[in-house]
Amino acid sequence: MIKELSVKTHSHSELVNITGLVQEAVSESKVTEGVCIVFVPHTTAGVTINENADPDVKSDILMKLDKLVDWNDRDYRHDEGNSAGHIKATMTGFSQSVIIQNGQLQLGTWQHIYFAEFDGPRSRRVKVKII
Ligand code: ZN
Repeated sequence: MIKELSVKTHSHSELVNITGLVQEAVSESKVTEGVCIVFVPHTTAGVTINENADPDVKSDILMKLDKLVDWNDRDYRHDEGNSAGHIKATMTGFSQSVIIQNGQLQLGTWQHIYFAEFDGPRSRRVKVKII
């Protein structure tokens, strides 16, 4: 089963918690033991797993990525002007795999799944494959 999720982002750079939507897809699939693959079919957005308890972790990740990947670097050659978005997406990656046990995503206590927007705001898609 493949499920497509819609994610609307509201900022230029943003981490959107999609754990609930992904768990919903797992529950709908009725798969109790398996693997859930979350795939982002975009080139300036990715998906990552990190802490949900302290919101400062999210903002620290975005702040540090901003410092590491300068949006206004004059050496970029890509015409569209969004090379920083492409680079950050490559840094986070485009898919995550999470083990399913007893019908539940086996994330750690502090882990959640984040859609990572790096050239928003936009309407985005996420594909979820449960096997
Ligand atoms: Zn581009």
